[in-house]
Amino acid sequence: MRLLVALRSAGVTDARVLGAFERIDRSIFVSDTFADAAFDDTALPIAAGQTISQPSVVGLMTQAARVGPRHVVLEVGSGTGYQSAILSQLARRVYSVERHRSLVRMARANHAALGLTNVTVISGDGSFGLPDQGPFDRILVTAAAEDPPGPLLSQLRDGGSMVVPVGVSDHIQTLIKVTRDGDGFDYEELMPVRFVPLIEGIEQE
Ligand code: SAH
Repeated sequence: MRLLVALRSAGVTDARVLGAFERIDRSIFVSDTFADAAFDDTALPIAAGQTISQPSVVGLMTQAARVGPRHVVLEVGSGTGYQSAILSQLARRVYSVERHRSLVRMARANHAALGLTNVTVISGDGSFGLPDQGPFDRILVTAAAEDPPGPLLSQLRDGGSMVVPVGVSDHIQTLIKVTRDGDGFDYEELMPVRFVPLIEGIEQE
């Protein structure tokens, strides 16, 4: 399938990650208007003025996170639920937090349509994480912050890691991987990216 070719040429080589992309049909996560483009390697508009991420970026972030079958994973920014569906194939348990209620409903419906049972979408401000469900082995943030949010760092298990886009503007963002080592953190720069901003608070729409 052409999406897998695009993923491989972007550098997604991990067989488990590619297998997850094979099993999760991206067309479920985009509106009918964009059905023809569902398997292109591009970001597309979704409800509430947001975007479904570019598949190769989802793939590279997932691969960088090195998600294992026993991991409990937190995603911040569910959108329509594509990244969390991919993660559900790799992890034991996935929690995803979204601030737009309309997107929470869509993501839940999409996961239900695929029969996914190990992923839960929660309405809220994900920059505070989910203290009751943590600590997390892995955290993926799919909206850009100025700095990795403190509550998320504190909900990372020792040895665990977080992949998060950071940057001060819409244009200059870097995907980084933060790994917890006791009370300290190691930072690694991965690649330039462009995400919608991480916004405080919760929307009713
Ligand atoms: N992960 C999605 C991409 C979503 S785009 C995918 O798989 O395609 C980023 C999402 O982050 C948007 O839906 C936006 O509403 C959400 N978002 C932004 N700030 C947030 C916050 N503080 N808490 C939760 N979600 C947030």
